[in-house]
Amino acid sequence: MRQIIVDKDRCTLCEICIPVCPFGALALVGDEIKVTESCNLCGACVPECPAEAIEVTGPAPEEVDLSGWHGIWVFAEQTDGRLAGVVLELLAEARRMAAVTGEEVSAVLAGEGTRDLQPELIAHGADRVYVAEDSVLASFRDETYVTVIASLVQHHQPSVILFGATARGRSLAPRLAARLGTGLTADCTELDVDETGLLIQTRPAFGGNIMATIVCRRHRPQMATVRPRILQADAPDYDREGEIVDVRVDGPALQVRTLLLEAVEEEQGIMIEDADIIVAGGRGLGGPEGFEILFDLAKTLGGAVGVSRPVVDAGWIPYIHQVGQTGKTVSPSIYIACGISGAVQHMAGMRSADTIIAINKNPDAPIFNVATYGLVGDLFQIIPNLKREITNARR
Ligand SMILES: Cc1cc2nc3c(=O)[nH]c(=O)nc-3n(C[C@H](O)[C@H](O)[C@H](O)COP(=O)(O)OP(=O)(O)OC[C@H]3O[C@@H](n4cnc5c(N)ncnc54)[C@H](O)[C@@H]3O)c2cc1C
Repeated sequence: MRQIIVDKDRCTLCEICIPVCPFGALALVGDEIKVTESCNLCGACVPECPAEAIEVTGPAPEEVDLSGWHGIWVFAEQTDGRLAGVVLELLAEARRMAAVTGEEVSAVLAGEGTRDLQPELIAHGADRVYVAEDSVLASFRDETYVTVIASLVQHHQPSVILFGATARGRSLAPRLAARLGTGLTADCTELDVDETGLLIQTRPAFGGNIMATIVCRRHRPQMATVRPRILQADAPDYDREGEIVDVRVDGPALQVRTLLLEAVEEEQGIMIEDADIIVAGGRGLGGPEGFEILFDLAKTLGGAVGVSRPVVDAGWIPYIHQVGQTGKTVSPSIYIACGISGAVQHMAGMRSADTIIAINKNPDAPIFNVATYGLVGDLFQIIPNLKREITNARR
């Protein structure tokens, strides 16, 4: 069994190793450094010990043969024959990675009545589209989608599979990773690949205070979900050629335990991820009733309303409006932040907006550090004035 051993004879009890451990697994207990059960054998402490008293012992992990796994796949999420925008962003990224590894890019399309999407996927970078068409796949369900994609993966052995970090991607990818016995890095903000095909996945960690780089060295496929609107889609090239591969869907194998009676779409106006103008509100709005002026301004501007997390946690506004690390990433032309302090976790979701306008009564609020324009004052006075000026200017 592999374990970390601290040699008591060499250890000088300098305690340098204790803060170095990212998992807080080392502690001074009595007159020795103890390794607790939080240790995950990362070995970060080993090179830091000036007395060379720490070592990782036990048999090295067995070599694994990854040579049979090739190709970069993108899950082509669609609803009623419309592709999710993130699919085109992922295809562009997959093409950039394929230029490094020399592999092919494939899209995996499941559903019913999806034929029209196949040329679109090829134009945006797929060399091949695996099409699983069946009425049982018409509505998205984890159970059926996991079964179909897992069997495709086992047969074709792709090296990488990318998913949008959408509600569906976030639900499907972990189940598929568990079924395939591989790892998954969720909510990546950056991807890269080396010439051996190792996927280098970057995502915020520890509450957004560090960016972690994660690799999956010993298992395939390498799986990641990526937030929408972080990557850039390429312009389509309708002269590109690609192969369509029909996938046999084994109906009986897709027996599901649940029956979908009806899919009801929520009335939600413009979604923040699609909006060109977002009027966002935070705790400074004081309560759900405070949001009336925000919805009013958003309507005047033809935009959508975004919110910070405490607003959702307090139940003032539903989660679909949340911007930030644990909400959505948006990149509108204009982002008006009202009564939002500008915590890193909020800014992780909106700092790529072209123009940021901040309204806050605290002149030292961090949001002003990223704002293009800042208005210091009471939002309940500023917003109605702003709306009046906009309405007058349009007359
Ligand atoms: C792991 C983790 C993930 C997180 N994910 C997210 C996330 O996805 N999105 C997110 O937003 N947060 C997230 N948070 C929470 C985040 O750290 C902050 O707590 C949050 O963003 C603060 O929200 P706020 O700016 O609305 O509230 P506050 O920080 O309380 O700020 C309210 C602001 O309103 C101003 N104000 C008050 N009254 C008025 C007025 N009348 N006129 C003008 N200004 C006024 C105040 O000066 C203040 O700056 C996360 C936190 C953690 C630990």
